[in-house]
Amino acid sequence: MAIREVREMGDDVLEKQCKPVTKMTLRTKILIEDMLDTMYEKMGVGLAAPQVGILKQIVVIDVGEGPIVLINPEIIETSGEQTGEEGCLSVPGKWGGIVTRPNHVKVRALDENMEEFEIEGEELLARAFCHEIDHLGGHLYVEKVEGELHDSPAYNEEDMEYEVEE
Ligand code: ZN
Repeated sequence: MAIREVREMGDDVLEKQCKPVTKMTLRTKILIEDMLDTMYEKMGVGLAAPQVGILKQIVVIDVGEGPIVLINPEIIETSGEQTGEEGCLSVPGKWGGIVTRPNHVKVRALDENMEEFEIEGEELLARAFCHEIDHLGGHLYVEKVEGELHDSPAYNEEDMEYEVEE
């Protein structure tokens, strides 16, 4: 188990196009394990390889239904629309970024054995597919945010009881 450092917005590595994985190596297997460990440790629902500084087309996702590993993923079908808040481990301390995404997304990818498969997701999973696959093209969700991104308030239960923003 190894937790890798998560790169943050402003780091060039997050703005580059990632390269496809051509064969599964021990190094890549370890990378995938570390990405899963890092995602769970930081309580994210997804993580893309460039977020740990590796320009490879690899994504891990877990929206609470078990881990999904996508290698060289491609969105092949979308439908519907959802608008909601999004966050990113590479953009810490921000919240309230409203992003519109398709509500239903179908992805074609390779699994850890380099076998092709297709997977479909709705709502949060569809959003995670779009968000993480964007990372592989060097894009952060902040490019798509409608309105302003806010700083996260320090969590304080007492304040939450009476503070209402006008
Ligand atoms: Zn992200």
